[in-house]
Amino acid sequence: MLKPKMKTPATHKVFGRRIRCQLLRTLFSNACETSIRVQIFARLSSMKTICAVSVAMVEAPRSEIETFAFFKAIESLIPSPTKQTVRLEKAGVKTGARGLVNVNENFQTNIEHIYAAGDAIGFPALASTSMEQARRAALHALNLAGRTISPILPAGIYTIPEVSMVGETEESLQKKDTAYIVGRANYRENARGRIIGDQEGFLKLLFRQADLKLIGVHVMGELATEVVHIGLIAVMGDASANLFVEACLNMPTLGMLYKTATLDALQKFRKSQKDT
Ligand SMILES: Cc1cc2nc3c(=O)[nH]c(=O)nc-3n(C[C@H](O)[C@H](O)[C@H](O)COP(=O)(O)OP(=O)(O)OC[C@H]3O[C@@H](n4cnc5c(N)ncnc54)[C@H](O)[C@@H]3O)c2cc1C
Repeated sequence: MLKPKMKTPATHKVFGRRIRCQLLRTLFSNACETSIRVQIFARLSSMKTICAVSVAMVEAPRSEIETFAFFKAIESLIPSPTKQTVRLEKAGVKTGARGLVNVNENFQTNIEHIYAAGDAIGFPALASTSMEQARRAALHALNLAGRTISPILPAGIYTIPEVSMVGETEESLQKKDTAYIVGRANYRENARGRIIGDQEGFLKLLFRQADLKLIGVHVMGELATEVVHIGLIAVMGDASANLFVEACLNMPTLGMLYKTATLDALQKFRKSQKDT
């Protein structure tokens, strides 16, 4: 008897090469589940404005033309600082590239009693950082000297699946020639991950090999932008792997991913010690 042929999801058909990278696998798997079609290696043929949203016309493989609300749709919503209506030059406030306002570490402009924060000063231009910058600026203006904003900033992308990170990446550590150990934990092997049905989510922790300090946290999956906060606090607290080994964490929780990923890293660390 012939085995019934597995139906390949349409999304997968367009990929001309095998995807090995865990990141892409996670993306595509989630896209299948949510009926979102992801296309890579597609050529942009033109841009159209439909209902005030920029839509990229994508030339799909086999000359099939399809319409996709692409990243351009998001881009079209982002206000450009150069389009600002505030006439800064009237106050003598200097601006730099793309009309961004130059500020010092206290968020003062070149006119010391005029402060700027948020999108107006550029990177990272997030709601989270903008709020903190404005708070610091207000404290400084009122002479309630506070510390400067932490340089350890999380980044969150509210996509399906969610993505979030803080600290170093493998690439940044390789550039700095810093030896590191990677610890991984998969949502599907975590009790809470199984309850919520996330088959592809994962947590990746980066520990400095020299002292096993946590220096990078990467999460992709359900509630990634929440899960990353545990790592953010640990990175800010200069915590090492021991913190997660010793801490007793609630069960079932996604927080337990930290213990699993840390134990994975320690196993690799011990193996690397034995090998040398
Ligand atoms: C589509 C999109 C999604 C985003 N998603 C996220 C996210 O998930 N997480 C995140 O952290 N950040 C996100 N951001 C970024 C975040 O929204 C901004 O970084 C943040 O709002 C910046 O705050 P702000 O106070 O500097 O500027 P704004 O929030 O833009 O506030 C500026 C205010 O000034 C007003 N204004 C402008 N000109 C004048 C004038 N002449 N007189 C009086 N008032 C004026 C405007 O109307 C506005 O209310 C997103 C941005 C976009 C566009």
